[in-house]
Amino acid sequence: MVRNLVVTRRLLVGAGVKATYLLPSGFLLGEGAMAATLTANARPAKRQTAPARRLVMLDPGHGGKDPGAIGVSGTYEKHVALATAFELKRQLEASGRYHVEMTRTRDVFIPLEHRVEIAQHHNAVLFVSMHADALKDQHVRGASIYTLAATASDAQTRELARRENSADRFAGPALGNTSPEIAEILASLVRRETRIGSARMAHDLVGALSPAVPLLPNPTRHAGFVVLKAADIPSVLVEMGFMSNRQDEAALRRPDHRIRVAAAMKRAVDAYFVAANHAVAASG
Ligand SMILES: [Zn+2]
Repeated sequence: MVRNLVVTRRLLVGAGVKATYLLPSGFLLGEGAMAATLTANARPAKRQTAPARRLVMLDPGHGGKDPGAIGVSGTYEKHVALATAFELKRQLEASGRYHVEMTRTRDVFIPLEHRVEIAQHHNAVLFVSMHADALKDQHVRGASIYTLAATASDAQTRELARRENSADRFAGPALGNTSPEIAEILASLVRRETRIGSARMAHDLVGALSPAVPLLPNPTRHAGFVVLKAADIPSVLVEMGFMSNRQDEAALRRPDHRIRVAAAMKRAVDAYFVAANHAVAASG
């Protein structure tokens, strides 16, 4: 039954896909045909027991030659992202319930697609990209959460995704070679379970962040963020605030505020895995 097939990275690789989102041209089939191909190549999956993998991949945005947004008083987004990611890693690991890896642990540039590959290499079950970008409107403040979609939820998010995706301009001409057609197919290939997981994590983040920090109106939004394109790992991007807003920038410079943001994000991770375990238990 194709409908019940769980598509993992290993399965995709076994079926001839070099990387989850870099399909050889001969493999660009309709989704049904692809599923059939995968089924033909699939070995019986081991029954999953709860809790299975629990490696959380944190992705501090930007780094190295890419500073990200630069705040109204000169704060670099890349530094705020890394500091908050370290704090979240500390809190998650202190609970004893998670393994945490980071796509970068120092001030170094990493292309967007490589960030996805790092998460897949570690068999991550959740990918959280952490940012504090800038918007044209300096009055806009608050946290917001983004998931992957082929089309943007609104003009502001379209612009944000364009900015985030343009981080790879720092990588030079050899990278960023995903054509719009491929990108379109990739978006459609993001499996149903991955999409549901991403949406659930976004929902949990709103619930956890809303009592702790200001949120944008309609705080869950979506667009074609390259860094969220793993087909098999639920992925979200969190803008913890905006460097373009004086209050947000000042808050994110403060360690006590970053601890509060990280604590809220940890509560969201907890809620996400509690629900995931219930789902596994209910279907088992
Ligand atoms: Zn950013």
